[in-house]
This record gives sequence, structure tokens and C-alpha cells, in this order.
Amino acid sequence: MKKALITGVTGQDGAYLAQFLLSKGYAVHGMVRRSSTADVNDVRLRWLGIDKQVRLHDGNLSDLSSIIRILREVEPDEVYNLAAQSFVKSSWQQPLLTGNITGLGVVNVLEAIRLTCPAARFYQASSSEMYGLIQEPVQTETTPFYPRSPYAVAKLFGHWMTVNYRESFGLHASSGILFNHESPLRGIEFVTRKVTDGVARIKLGLSSELRLGNIDAKRDWGHARDYVRAMWLMLQQDTPDDYVVATGRTVTVRDMCQIAFSHLDLDIDRHLMIDPDLFRPAEVEILLGDASKAKAKLGWEATTPLEAMIQEMVEADLARLRAQGATRQ
Ligand code: NDP
Ligand code: GDP
Repeated sequence: MKKALITGVTGQDGAYLAQFLLSKGYAVHGMVRRSSTADVNDVRLRWLGIDKQVRLHDGNLSDLSSIIRILREVEPDEVYNLAAQSFVKSSWQQPLLTGNITGLGVVNVLEAIRLTCPAARFYQASSSEMYGLIQEPVQTETTPFYPRSPYAVAKLFGHWMTVNYRESFGLHASSGILFNHESPLRGIEFVTRKVTDGVARIKLGLSSELRLGNIDAKRDWGHARDYVRAMWLMLQQDTPDDYVVATGRTVTVRDMCQIAFSHLDLDIDRHLMIDPDLFRPAEVEILLGDASKAKAKLGWEATTPLEAMIQEMVEADLARLRAQGATRQ
């Protein structure tokens, strides 16, 4: 039985990846950071019904000794580094923490692997945010980077450290440059989930408006369930490498909202408000990925259209709110 360790197992991708690896017969271990709300921090694993099957280990990406201890205990075949301060907007409010976790944290994991289990295969969760102020209309693995937030700068550091440890020490280290991916398990602060939750609240009479920032921004949105499969495929290759993972379609925030409002027969013009406070100090206006390399080498393709994903998210938020008894209907 293969063993995998996932950092960030309590997050969106960590939960879907754990589910995917369990379905492949892996023993799945996850690193979790200490929290005063430990009774609820596995909520996503519970949502997927896999909380009993994942073995959790106390640790923190900023604490090298904890990562070494966990690697010694688990002796994993594969390590997926998904943990990060992952919210772009917060990275301007907490730039040092973002640098420590999202950037330096990657080196902690790489060093721990080099010292304890150099044969383990490593996956780094890199991001399309690294393209930032895009240098080519369609981004591939060879497009130059131009990060636009402390988050993106930290991710770029982690990305190049992954490449560097592969080239310097021969680690089987791969970096997935994943474009935005969402699901019913997406954090509520990200725009898709904020919209699907907001629309569900309006439908149930719990609120009357949804406030957003720059709705002209365009993103290449896929489904997290599809994207975790690409992570696994990267580690099954004989040679480690870097891959863009994307759908190849870009849509404005406004049009993504329209899908959600239309699904519940709501009039977007009545409920959507623009709030200048929600604009960012520097914006990534558009992202559009070309995943041809992942298709050719991994046989991977995105399978979930944006419309189907947003509708799934709206339905999940409606169900969640109804289950909480949060309805005035
Ligand atoms: P989430 O924000 O949902 O999950 C982040 C995870 O990291 C959580 O489990 C969180 O734990 C954990 N974490 C945060 N800080 C620490 C720390 N100091 N030590 C240990 N664990 C920590 O992110 P996603 O699942 O959406 O994304 C997974 C990875 O992929 C992230 O690195 C993200 O930056 C990257 N990425 C995501 C994209 C997307 O569109 N989703 C696109 C490209 C890259 P806790 O539950 O305690 O908060
Ligand atoms: P990001 O691409 O990782 O920053 O993912 P987000 O989902 O946080 O943001 C996607 C885009 O939506 C960005 O261009 C944001 O500026 C834009 N956006 C507009 N309004 C909002 C909002 O209220 N919340 C968030 N999170 N993003 C918003």
C-alpha cells in the first residue's frame, strides 16, 4: 500500500486529493496545524465522508522540526505540499506571514524530504497568480512570470525552489501551475463561493444584496475534483516536471455571477452592488491557461464546464443553509 502525506489536508484541494488517493488504495496522512477549533477543522473531510480514513498529524509549515518528525513517522512515498496562506487579498494585509508560509514553508518541506526521505516524490502547489501582469495572452509553462501580490511573489519563490531542489539534489519534485479551481468546498472568501453562497442567501430571503469588487477581472476556472487528479498524475511520471493545469476558457467575474443568479431565476441588476473597498491594490486582470503539455504527457483534461460547477456550488450552498434552518420561506 502506497503512503501519501498531504500538507493542507483540511483545505479544499487537500480534502479532494485525500478522497482521490483513498480511492486509489493509498494510506493517506495529513498534516494539520494546531487550532483552538480542532473539533471543526476537519469539516471538509467530513463533508466528503472520509474523516475517519485520513490519519492526521500535528505540525506546521513554519516548523521544520514538526515536518521532519512527521516524515520520519509516516515514511511517505509521495508528499503533496498544498498548505499555504492561499488568499491573495490577505497577502497584502499579512505579507510577512504569507512569505513565511507560502514561500519559505516550501523549503521547509523540501529540506525535510532531502534530510529524511529523499526518494519520496514531491508535489508543489504553484499558482497561475505567478503570471500576474500577463506577458503572453495564453499562459504556458514557458510564459515569463510577473507576480502582482505578496502571495504570488511567495508562490514564485516556492516554485523556483522546487525546480532548484530537483536540479540540485535530484529530488523527484514537480510543480503544478494550477489556474483557479473551485468547488462546494472552496473557502467562502474566494469570489466563486462568495457568489454562490450570496445568491443562495438572497434566494432564501436572508439577504438582499451581494457586494463585489472588480467584476471585470477574468479567470480560467476549473473544478478542484478534476485538478487533484492532475497532481497525482504528475507524481506517477518517471521524470519530474512542471505543468500548467487549466481549462483553456476565461470568463469575467460578472459572467460567472450571471450563471449563479440565472440558476435561481434572480435578477443580477437588482442585487449585485460594486464596493470600491473590495478592489485590490494591484489586480490580475486576466488569466488564461494552455494545458496542452498536461494533456500530451499526463493524458489530463478538465472535464467540468464552469456552468455545471457554479450550479453545483449554488445547490450545495442552498442545501447547507437550509440544513442550518436558515430560511425565511
Ligand atoms: P485552502 O486555503 O483551502 O487550504 C490551505 C490549507 O493550508 C489549509 O488546510 C490550511 O489549514 C493549511 N495551512 C495554512 N497555513 C498553514 C501552516 N502554517 N501550517 C500548516 N498548514 C497550513 O487552499 P486550496 O485547497 O484552495 O489550495 C491548495 C493549495 O493550492 C494552496 O497552496 C494554494 O495556494 C494553491 N493554489 C490554489 C488554487 C485554487 O484555485 N484553489 C490555484 C493555484 C494554487 P487550516 O485549515 O488550518 O486553515
Ligand atoms: P484569486 O484569483 O486567487 O485572487 O481568486 P479570488 O476568487 O479571490 O478572486 C478572483 C477575482 O475576483 C479577482 O480578480 C478579484 O479581484 C475578483 N473579485 C471581485 N470581487 C471580489 C470579492 O468580493 N472577493 C474576491 N475574493 N474576489 C473578488
